Amino acid sequence: MAQLDTREKLAILADAAKYDASCASSGTAKRSSEGKAKGIGSTEGMGICHAYAPDGRCISLLKILLTNSCIFDCHYCINRKSSNVRRARFTAQEVVQLTLAFYRRNYIEGLFLSSGIIRSSNYTMEQIVEVARSLREDHQFRGYIHLKTIPDADPELIAQAGLHADRVSINVELPTTRGLARLAPEKSAPRIEGAMRDMKTKIEDTADARKRYRSAPRFAPAGQSTQMIVGADSASDGEIVTTASRLYDRFGLRRVYYSAFSPIPDASAVLPLQRPPLMREHRLYQSDWLMRFYGFQPREVVAAAGDDGMLPLDIDPKLAWALKFREHFPVDINRAPREMLLRVPGLGTKAVGSILAARRWRTLRLDDVARLTVSVTKLRPFIVTADWRPTLLTDKVDLKARIAPKREQMELFAA
Ligand code: SF4
Repeated sequence: MAQLDTREKLAILADAAKYDASCASSGTAKRSSEGKAKGIGSTEGMGICHAYAPDGRCISLLKILLTNSCIFDCHYCINRKSSNVRRARFTAQEVVQLTLAFYRRNYIEGLFLSSGIIRSSNYTMEQIVEVARSLREDHQFRGYIHLKTIPDADPELIAQAGLHADRVSINVELPTTRGLARLAPEKSAPRIEGAMRDMKTKIEDTADARKRYRSAPRFAPAGQSTQMIVGADSASDGEIVTTASRLYDRFGLRRVYYSAFSPIPDASAVLPLQRPPLMREHRLYQSDWLMRFYGFQPREVVAAAGDDGMLPLDIDPKLAWALKFREHFPVDINRAPREMLLRVPGLGTKAVGSILAARRWRTLRLDDVARLTVSVTKLRPFIVTADWRPTLLTDKVDLKARIAPKREQMELFAA
């Protein structure tokens, strides 16, 4: 490996980390603050990304890999053994010093650290743990730490990661075992799930112990998460939703992140040539929300998909479900239970909370509901209020065309 200075390593290893979706600042256009313009506020600073803490705070993280060298050859990964990319590697102490330097300058509030597999899974995990240990014990670092763990590593090492990190994640990588066998043959679904199960047990045991003894050590207090790559294999949205739901139930995950596969330089011939539409990733996040906060069962989200198991891209999954199962509508805003209000397209959890609070004191009219939502047009066919009842609008064949968002010309060179 060529001798590189810290800045060069940072450029390579921060860029290599951007494929990890589990903490990402997204939705902004790229702007550079370098060069003649000498602007400020670049969204492309090396290694700094934004993530959301469990309490909703946005925190800036130094997001890097320890190394982008890897002994594995996962087809979808730019860092795989056979990839022709520039390699770099930080030592554990270099990452510690970099984190502290960024933290003292107030650039970041924490660290997100992942790595390619250097010599063996255990060796790599030891290095990752050493970074977190040194930050916590040698430097009393109190900032946020998110560590990517390696499922093949010794469970004792993974457990040590949990003692120092706020959040740990183990990537499930692909939604189906057949996809994993095809695209990441050196990885094993049972080993990944085994590591998640061990992590869940440790998180629960420690939480129990801390209820009884305040001195019991903390263990990954922000829980565990995982990431699935979307569009690299043939898995349908239905399969992805079902897998995500199973992972939430079995392993108590805080989040499943979906990362739309993006074609990489020198891509393997088994990969699709085109990336899936980014909207697909967005629809999967919406369906994830439906299961976590809106009381939808996975089978209901799957039922909103088409015969090919794919969620529609032009409308959100909640509206797709409502259009398909119109017999559940209209819903009476003044009488329906919370579960049914949450099914109404266009009504979010906050709006439902406000409706439940307001209707204790008075009967709600269409205008009252309109004030709580972005667009009452989407809602009208699905609700009854004191002064509004749809005239069997839900029977209309062109209902989707009436309420679906209008198509917009996207920016041609948008990020
Ligand atoms: S083990 Fe991780 S870093 Fe290595 S090739 Fe596979 S996905 Fe990439």
